[in-house]
Amino acid sequence: MYEKISIYGVGYNNVTMEEAAALTDEFLGESKNHMVVTPNAEIGYMAAKDKELSDILNASDMVIADGIGVVYASKIYGTPVKQKVAGVELGEKVLENASKSGKGVFFLGAKPGVGDLAAEKLLEKYPGINFSGIRDGYFKDDDEVIEAINASGAEILFVCLGAPKQEKWMAKNRDKINVRLMLGLGGALDSYAGTVKRAPKIFIKLGLEWFYRLIKEPKRAGRMMALPKYMFAVMRDSRKKKKMARKKAK
Ligand code: UDP
Repeated sequence: MYEKISIYGVGYNNVTMEEAAALTDEFLGESKNHMVVTPNAEIGYMAAKDKELSDILNASDMVIADGIGVVYASKIYGTPVKQKVAGVELGEKVLENASKSGKGVFFLGAKPGVGDLAAEKLLEKYPGINFSGIRDGYFKDDDEVIEAINASGAEILFVCLGAPKQEKWMAKNRDKINVRLMLGLGGALDSYAGTVKRAPKIFIKLGLEWFYRLIKEPKRAGRMMALPKYMFAVMRDSRKKKKMARKKAK
């Protein structure tokens, strides 16, 4: 298992993208259902105010540092993570590996039609993916959806219901779902479908993907205020922790 780094109350696995992908392969070789979560700064900020959510994140089998905000925060605490591991990219690696292994994939989430469009686009890139089932994320009856997942024979489940809904849904139902790997991936299906475009590479490279999303979807502005709030809270928290450590050392 990889070392965990605590960042504003959430323990993140200190992994590179390659290591995270290798870990998902290991999970697929074990019989239990594993849960992977991808908290960015917004979710980290939410978790500080929602104990149920932070307990769920901390009890997951893998927690990756999704987003530049979390990477900066880890530096502020003086315990930097190796790199940003974007959930949408890890998801794509899992799909690429699944296209070789033939393991069944189930997409749950996003608006009706988005999952199908995502699958269509992904099959052009990775023709071997074996899609066991696709369901949109606007359902009422959990049990009926879980039955469909179990009957499909899928081993990999993408849960894209947005945070914190997807994390709570996975935690509540994990024992009833007979897959080996489930990933909570927010807007990933929209991204694969191309209904929401990721930022051009230059924005991602400069750590400005958040800025691109803000320009493209100004209605996210309220939600995106979580990023500066998270950064300030992290600065305060790290100062407090350093002060306490100094006191202890005396
Ligand atoms: N969504 C869903 N069911 C719901 C609410 C949201 O399937 O009840 C989907 C929504 O259509 C979108 C995704 O969840 O595809 C959340 O996207 P968002 O960009 O908000 O996710 P983030 O990655 O920012 O958490």
